[in-house]
Amino acid sequence: MKFVDAHLHFSDREYSSKIAQIIQEAKQSNLVALVSSSIDYESCQRNLMLAEENRGLVYAALGIHPWNVTNLTEKKLEQTLNLILQHGAECERVVAIGEIGLDPQYAKHGETKDKQMQVFKEMLTVAEKLSLPVIVHSRWSAQKIMPLLTSYRLEGVLFHWFSSPVELIPQMVEHGYYISEGPPTVFSDRTKEIVKQVPITNLLTETDGPVPYYGPFEGKLTTPAFIPLVVKAMAEIKNMKEEEVADQILKNSVNFFRIEGLKL
Ligand SMILES: [Zn+2]
Repeated sequence: MKFVDAHLHFSDREYSSKIAQIIQEAKQSNLVALVSSSIDYESCQRNLMLAEENRGLVYAALGIHPWNVTNLTEKKLEQTLNLILQHGAECERVVAIGEIGLDPQYAKHGETKDKQMQVFKEMLTVAEKLSLPVIVHSRWSAQKIMPLLTSYRLEGVLFHWFSSPVELIPQMVEHGYYISEGPPTVFSDRTKEIVKQVPITNLLTETDGPVPYYGPFEGKLTTPAFIPLVVKAMAEIKNMKEEEVADQILKNSVNFFRIEGLKL
């Protein structure tokens, strides 16, 4: 079986001194692609470097996270957009625009709200320009994001760690969007319910590392090596063989990210 971590943050400080060991463990656990999402200018740079150093395994998603919009200056936004435009066509390293989206909890005031929307739209425009799929953060905002997406010509959409509302799932599937779920699939009833409702052809796996988890993962540093357990849990929920689930998710990942080296 081969596995993919479609969304984590390798540029996070928590990983800094441990990257080599984590990559080694990921390889031993049969991970074949790790997509490292960015949150700001610095993490875009770092992810490009990590993708360079680990060609054929680590891939970069470039973008600005809605949480990082609050203190973003116009100059930094422009610099980030330029960096993305400069490197976005390097398909061996850059496979998506992400992590982008809206999060009302981090934009309680009018001005921040407008800025979050402005940056999200800039990111969608750049994704359209570069013909790259997008990795979307949609906490408390999926309903607002859905109609926005359809006004752009996007190569693909991944709702990472989608949590609600489940009523949107049929619409997402109809548009051919993907949904990725991670370690909570093992221990959270809510996530299990989502995995149950999303067709296997629209599912991807992620860790969102280094975000920490509960259940069997409590107290452990989140790494891509968690993915085989996520696939096992998905297989139980879907009443499928683990191999079948792993193969289909690999296929979905190849379709979504168009990773050349991952051709089946
Ligand atoms: Zn994330």
